[in-house]
Amino acid sequence: MADTAEPRPEHGLTDFDDAGLAALVARHGGKPFQARQLTHWIYRHGASDAAGLRNLPARLRDAIVADLPIRSSRVVEVSRSADGTEKLLLGLHDGETIESVLIPEGERLTLCISSQVGCPVACVFCASGLDGVRRNLSAGEIVEQVLHARDRVAEARHGGLPARITNVVVMGLGEPLLNLANLEAALARLCDEEGIGLGARRITVSTSGHPERMRRFAALRRSYGLALSLHAAEDQLRKELVPTARAPVAELIEAAQHYFEITGREVTYEVVLLADVNDRPQDAAALIDALHGRTCTVNLIPWNPVDRIDGLRRPEAARVDAFERQLVAGGLNVTVRRQRGSDRDAACGQLRLHRAAET
Ligand code: SAH
Ligand code: SF4
Repeated sequence: MADTAEPRPEHGLTDFDDAGLAALVARHGGKPFQARQLTHWIYRHGASDAAGLRNLPARLRDAIVADLPIRSSRVVEVSRSADGTEKLLLGLHDGETIESVLIPEGERLTLCISSQVGCPVACVFCASGLDGVRRNLSAGEIVEQVLHARDRVAEARHGGLPARITNVVVMGLGEPLLNLANLEAALARLCDEEGIGLGARRITVSTSGHPERMRRFAALRRSYGLALSLHAAEDQLRKELVPTARAPVAELIEAAQHYFEITGREVTYEVVLLADVNDRPQDAAALIDALHGRTCTVNLIPWNPVDRIDGLRRPEAARVDAFERQLVAGGLNVTVRRQRGSDRDAACGQLRLHRAAET
């Protein structure tokens, strides 16, 4: 599958890399050290307007933001769930919307970010792909999700969120590996120690599986985590759940193994469990056969219902437990995602869908 859209021109300063920011500062008569200061203000301190660029001369900072804002997106809605998660709905420069989700778990605060507006992969159980894909997110739009969430965390300290974002997962709207160039630039920006300073090991990218792109992602030789959304180990069933997928399961697992060998990061296999579809004993047996002997973890995710999707059911807890026990008995490491399915908009992509339906 080709990249969904060509990279677009810049809409905010976050779309520039360091060389681009240095060129911009130089064009307005600034010095290289002032370009570094600009990077610090935007990423370390989270400046979102000219006033936030504190120690730059007024003429320089006004010139810098004259053509482009620092950020091109803004928060249009925050929705808090009973279980403590917070969804941020962001409005983009062209009127599109995306979601990011803050998930507190003890000391950890994980931010789930989007990589595309919608998704072209169209998994049958997922809200994100229901209306196809509108476009890729730019590198800046990916990074801005972290900047906005960090602002929100600072605002909400009294509201009980942990003090800072400890982990980022690219598991929101979209298929990240179909937007690889922008993803790569954005992740590098998140890890820049002069700026946001997140460790590569604290970032996980989740993919529906594109072997050639998984290999390109491995070739970056960074320590990002990789999660492969497998859902079923049997080709025919997987094809029913991920209808646009072309690669056979064996090839996906081979590409995941390659990722482990190159980066040293153990791959997580995600399985969204759907009652009587892929939660049967034979489905667990097929997973054991396919993954036996691999260094990996299987993450079971009981399906979160989606309004516009009929005919699928979340399995009963006892069924999930039995599935887990069978995998463990078969020698696999297994985790089960804690329940986050009670609220109306729990499944990622739903807040955006409801918003679109209401406006
Ligand atoms: N496109 C990528 C990343 C975004 S989806 C991918 O598919 O991996 C992130 C994870 O959420 C995937 O494992 C996906 O299968 C899962 N998911 C999507 N819709 C869901 C739902 N309604 N309930 C539970 N998990 C869901
Ligand atoms: Fe796209 Fe992932 Fe949803 Fe599948 S599960 S439609 S790949 S976002």
